[in-house]
Amino acid sequence: MTSPVWHPFTQHGLQEPIPLVERGEGAFLHTADGRRVIDAISSWWVTTHGHAHPRIMQAIRDQTGRLDQVIFAGWTHEPAETLAQGLRAMVPDTLTRVFFSDSGSTSVEVALKMALGYWLARADAGGEPRHRIVVMEHSYHGDTIGTMSVGERGVFNRAYEPLLFDVTRVPFPEQGQEQATYDALAAACRDAAAFVVEPLVLGAGGMKMYPPAVLAEMRAICAASGTLFIADEVMTGWGRTGTLLACEQAGVVPDILCLSKGLTGGAMPLAVTMASEPIFEAHWSTDRARMFFHSSSYTANPIACAAAAANLAIWREEPVAARIDALAAMQRESLAALAGAHRIRNARQCGTIAAFEVGEGEGYMADIAPRLLAMFRDANVLLRPLGDTIYVMPPYCIDRATLDEVYAAIGVAIARL
Ligand SMILES: *Cc1c(COP(=O)(O)O)cnc(C)c1O
Repeated sequence: MTSPVWHPFTQHGLQEPIPLVERGEGAFLHTADGRRVIDAISSWWVTTHGHAHPRIMQAIRDQTGRLDQVIFAGWTHEPAETLAQGLRAMVPDTLTRVFFSDSGSTSVEVALKMALGYWLARADAGGEPRHRIVVMEHSYHGDTIGTMSVGERGVFNRAYEPLLFDVTRVPFPEQGQEQATYDALAAACRDAAAFVVEPLVLGAGGMKMYPPAVLAEMRAICAASGTLFIADEVMTGWGRTGTLLACEQAGVVPDILCLSKGLTGGAMPLAVTMASEPIFEAHWSTDRARMFFHSSSYTANPIACAAAAANLAIWREEPVAARIDALAAMQRESLAALAGAHRIRNARQCGTIAAFEVGEGEGYMADIAPRLLAMFRDANVLLRPLGDTIYVMPPYCIDRATLDEVYAAIGVAIARL
């Protein structure tokens, strides 16, 4: 009998095999047919320390014995309170408020709604109204209607284009052409509510990287015109770029910060949108018509919060930074060894993330992508090229020998193209 499951970002018509995963441990997935697969993309960028980290698994088990779920409107629970305090202690002081949701997309939707709420309150108080959102080209912020609107348009959202709202786009800051980005941003910011951006690395847009100084300059431009700066650290957060937050490397503090993916170490779906006090205050009133109108049924699910609280404890108590540094160093060596190879272009790295292009520049729908995918699958390595961009983003526990296996598989695949 064929499976009734409809998979995400999967063309079922191609009838590619869909492996059944039974178990995950560290950097490995184990399939029902007995294969050991290296998870070289951290299961779509969520698994930070490794699969089934014992402390996170134990925290989940412990929490299931106490409280499974409770309404979060007007109620609270210990895992959410502990997590919120822990987050406040880890990020810059001015990010005082923690709003929970369930995914990266919703954390960005929440950020956009907070920004608009902030500007509505200012308009009601006699200030200028603002509602325009500024974004960077090649960005990805999620797959809901709102986050598709602020993301790159293309084959992925062609069918939904009529429903997407209008935004102002600034060019990606290509090396040597940063001024064009600054000029466009300064012009757009004059009457924009918010600028939403992925700091240092544009993930789904092709692992496009730009330096911290550019991030700092863009932040300053927004500040000069009062445009709220929303950092979408859904992918870059939790150490991926070498620091807990990518913004740290630029000395940047956003007005609104979106976190998800690695928030629970990759074990449970959860997200937070952290906001500065003026944004919270804009919604603070004795008037119920001014509260922040957003919720989902599972807001701040206690089991997910317990997993995230355990993740924070791991960050505080285990040598996570040292593991990240070690992985970054291994990636540098592996990339250097590969970079000389025929057919590789634009080898680059940001912290634990390594990326490069192969072939002649066909883009996301490049024919080589499915061929690479099949070769990696046959080699028992989970890599999922973004078109002609191959990237390696493993969990921080991966060891040298295992990473070598990943790069060996890449080398063989490229040679066979
Ligand atoms: C993955 C991602 C999202 C969306 O997160 P989901 O949990 O898949 O909804 C948003 N922003 C960035 C930068 C991402 O990488």
